[in-house]
Amino acid sequence: MGENGGMLALVRLRRGVVGESRRVCHLIPVPPAGAVPECLTALCGEPIRPGEAEVLDGLRGMPCHACLMAHTPASGGLLANAG
Ligand SMILES: [Zn+2]
Repeated sequence: MGENGGMLALVRLRRGVVGESRRVCHLIPVPPAGAVPECLTALCGEPIRPGEAEVLDGLRGMPCHACLMAHTPASGGLLANAG
């Protein structure tokens, strides 16, 4: 995660690709420019095909919990105040 000091993108699978309950916002490492792979892998391990997903410019709807956990530094404590 975050190899190349990489950027992360928020993507969500399109309506119809998966059921509404699975249309959560995944975090994926942004591939190098000009090299869009056939299948990307979200931080949570969910395979994301570019044609089946939309890139979001911000968090919309429900975030993927597993992706968030994968992205949160273990030493973080960012979630300590979540509620
Ligand atoms: Zn995810």
